Amino acid sequence: MKALDELTFDNRFARLGDAFSTHVLPEPLDAPRLVVASEAAMALLDLDPAVAETPVFAELFGGHKLWAEAEPRAMVYSGHQFGGYTPQLGDGRGLLLGEVYNQAGEHWDLHLKGAGMTPYSRMGDGRAVLRSSIREFLASEALHALGIPSSRALCVIGSDTPVWREKQERGAMVLRMAHSHIRFGHFEYFYYTKKPEQQAQLAEHVLNLHYPECREQPEPYLAMFREIVERNAELIAKWQAYGFCHGVMNTDNMSILGITFDFGPFAFLDDFDAHFICNHSDHEGRYSFSNQVPIGQWNLSALAQALTPFISVDALKEALGLYLPLYQANYLDLMRRRLGLTTAEDDDQQLVERLLKLMQNSGVDYTLFFRRLGDESAALAVARLRDDFVDLAGFDAWAEQYKARVERDGEFSQEQRRARMHAVNPLYILRNYLAQNAIVAAESGDYSEVRRLHAVLSKPFEEQAGMEQYAQRPPDWGKHLEISCSS
Ligand code: AMP
Ligand code: MG
Repeated sequence: MKALDELTFDNRFARLGDAFSTHVLPEPLDAPRLVVASEAAMALLDLDPAVAETPVFAELFGGHKLWAEAEPRAMVYSGHQFGGYTPQLGDGRGLLLGEVYNQAGEHWDLHLKGAGMTPYSRMGDGRAVLRSSIREFLASEALHALGIPSSRALCVIGSDTPVWREKQERGAMVLRMAHSHIRFGHFEYFYYTKKPEQQAQLAEHVLNLHYPECREQPEPYLAMFREIVERNAELIAKWQAYGFCHGVMNTDNMSILGITFDFGPFAFLDDFDAHFICNHSDHEGRYSFSNQVPIGQWNLSALAQALTPFISVDALKEALGLYLPLYQANYLDLMRRRLGLTTAEDDDQQLVERLLKLMQNSGVDYTLFFRRLGDESAALAVARLRDDFVDLAGFDAWAEQYKARVERDGEFSQEQRRARMHAVNPLYILRNYLAQNAIVAAESGDYSEVRRLHAVLSKPFEEQAGMEQYAQRPPDWGKHLEISCSS
């Protein structure tokens, strides 16, 4: 276990130089205080969890203090936003404080979001509000606990600093961690500004640090792109299987590591709705739940375009062609498991699609359906779940198909079935209304609800005593909360 001043830095991205990022100091928050910290994320830095409660913790992550070896930098990148190219974005309100490596030899970027203005702030104030910082914190850690790759969050620091959005709010900072903060948009920036040398430098950096095994391949850059395609296909399969809607899949919010990154108006589905649009500002539904699949490919094509100086167009096209089949195989595999199946049959895709259509038509809770399906034998479970459906004949037909399929799958005891299904079907997810309750309390200075919710979501598959209220369908007011980009 380490104290805060014992972190070991190795700032590899900063060393790439001023073409890649600009030195900027964090702008401190007034009266910084700990809102919530993640013990699991602290463990990744070998930090003693007790240090979160010390004043110096809030000072460091509230922008008042810096380690001597930190080199805070705002990164430059660009990207396609809602389909259109924006030539310059960059860290407008976040700073890469430095890279730390832990005792296991893993490197972690420490990125402070909400740290004040930078050369890339454009019209923005460089700040993040408490509400969006809490949402990013909870989502990062909840996704990780679900087994969905994501950037992590060490803590949220609250403050008295006034920040104007639609109304006056309070500024906060979230300390984000990832093995890299490089986005598709980093490659796009150097491609469209026609800086081939720097682009090659960036590609070498990513290859050496994050895809070293691709060096062994005859075409290392192509191997790296293929790996990025594969990771994205796997990631998006997980989002779709667990009902996660990212909300702003712009290419500047896509990580070259294939992790969930840059949270805005995200949501987990309550009722299953393939057409759900979680971002109130997304009028066309470009980033609706079901569109995430083709958008994943669109984004990879935008990255491919930026890689044309290094890789032939034919090879890029071939690698892009891997995306959809890989996505489908991963998705189907996850859905089979969610249905408790251990074998594969040709009709499984259709079994899943029929179920989703029925759920869509009846507004069935996506998370609770699968959890309850594993509570009992297939026959008993479908009999109990039947009441949730409007189209009873349709559900009965599906239930017959499912029961027959379960029978063919093999003989398992009730205990085996439950254990297997509960291990992949969470009881607790980050419902928008739960986050909202925690935010309202935090805005009035009570952080206990954020902390409790974070604790519950860190073990989403385990039933926790006294936490029944976190495993319910949302109340009516909580079903259609409007979440916009103004964070
Ligand atoms: P996002 O929608 O959070 O992914 O941000 C898109 C771009 O806008 C990025 O370049 C951000 O750094 C920038 N940005 C978002 N909010 C602010 C803000 N309050 N101040 C400065 N820049 C911002
Ligand atoms: Mg962003």
